[in-house]
Amino acid sequence: MESLLHLMEDEKILRAERLDVLRRVGQSAKNPAYVVGGFVRDLLLRKPVSDFDIVSEGDAIAFARSLAKQYGGQVTAHANFGTAKWFLNENSFVDFITARSEIYTHNAALPTVKFASLSEDILRRDFTINTLAIRLDGNHFGEVRDDINGQADIKKGIVRVLHSNSFLDDPTRIYRAVRYEQRYGFKIDVETAELIPEAIRLIEKLSAQRIRHELDLILDEPNAHLMIARLADLNLLKSIHPALSNEFASISILNQKIINFADLQIAIDNLNDIGVSMPRRDFLWLLWLMPLSADSLKSLNTRLSFTANLMKLLLSGSELLKKANQLSGLSPSKCVQFLDTFHLESVAIVYLLNQDAQIKNKLYTYLHSWRHIKANITGVDLKARGVPAGPKYNEILWKIRAAWLDGIVNDKTQEANLLMELLEIKL
Ligand code: ATP
Repeated sequence: MESLLHLMEDEKILRAERLDVLRRVGQSAKNPAYVVGGFVRDLLLRKPVSDFDIVSEGDAIAFARSLAKQYGGQVTAHANFGTAKWFLNENSFVDFITARSEIYTHNAALPTVKFASLSEDILRRDFTINTLAIRLDGNHFGEVRDDINGQADIKKGIVRVLHSNSFLDDPTRIYRAVRYEQRYGFKIDVETAELIPEAIRLIEKLSAQRIRHELDLILDEPNAHLMIARLADLNLLKSIHPALSNEFASISILNQKIINFADLQIAIDNLNDIGVSMPRRDFLWLLWLMPLSADSLKSLNTRLSFTANLMKLLLSGSELLKKANQLSGLSPSKCVQFLDTFHLESVAIVYLLNQDAQIKNKLYTYLHSWRHIKANITGVDLKARGVPAGPKYNEILWKIRAAWLDGIVNDKTQEANLLMELLEIKL
């Protein structure tokens, strides 16, 4: 029996402390237990691995609980699915699955689940490259199970379904196929690719949550831009929603060749440094979809159900992208008055997308400096001077802020003088 122990013991691929976790799982197993799927695939590709999906041919929940009893940690379980998560600490967990088979009673619906052996568990998987398992229990530690020749497809770089109904059973697998293909520089097998057109009609049956999850996973990938372009080639974007026409096949920052996709992390870090932070995933959704109109975004939202926060930023960014040229010719205070009505994150993305040097410069100065420039005096000072409560407070404070922004006021004395002037005039 072939063993992959030599790869598991390579610290460049698997850290020693994680290998120890697998050894403990193996030593405690009373039934055959395997680490499966992505772990084995990436191990064979010699990519760093750390996440474990353990399939047990016995009760996986009881197994995870026995490990927690022996080695500590917490277990959460889903009795209906026979799955458990063993949290060794805050940052480290292992997934346990009771070996099962799945029956699809309707196309694109969720399957009925039945406990089974590893051989059957393997057959429910998406692609041959994900069907490998490494046995962990007893003396079998490190032995490979390759029932359907997954290793050969990994070597050849082929993404292949296990049977011709696979995409009809679960059309999300089409998006997964593209993700693996572009992640590893693989190719979707010709016969597998031929199964896609028939399954496209079923994409509309997928819930918003399932289809958005697939797109979220794609946007989380370093090669997200290649995946989006490939989805468009295969007509898999407009099948989600007509707003995702081929025009939206590329993440717009690339369309406009503004910065290289590989430099995106630098752009994100730079924004982080100036206090504009957002998850990379949201950042990419914004880069990709902000060029859509508000109406298209609202319609798309009925299909993809974005989080309320992301939707708010998309709408704000879409509006600003259209109106940003109004900034040219505006004084700094007028720019600030205008930009303060948009969400900061969307201003930041419009800054990245904009190609007009003058407007870009204004957006840059707003993000780095103008937005922080405020009057030194506050409402407390105005109250001390007997200004009655009401809208006058904001009016006076804004006039002082605008004077600082436009260089009319340059020090505290000038600010105090302006305040006197404003109070005399206004009161
Ligand atoms: P990744 O590196 O993207 O995390 P992974 O292989 O670990 O890849 P998961 O999404 O964590 O992928 O899924 C774990 C395993 O479950 C996969 O290896 C695959 O065999 C199986 N799987 C996941 N989604 C599906 C699906 N829709 N249909 C069939 N099998 C699936």
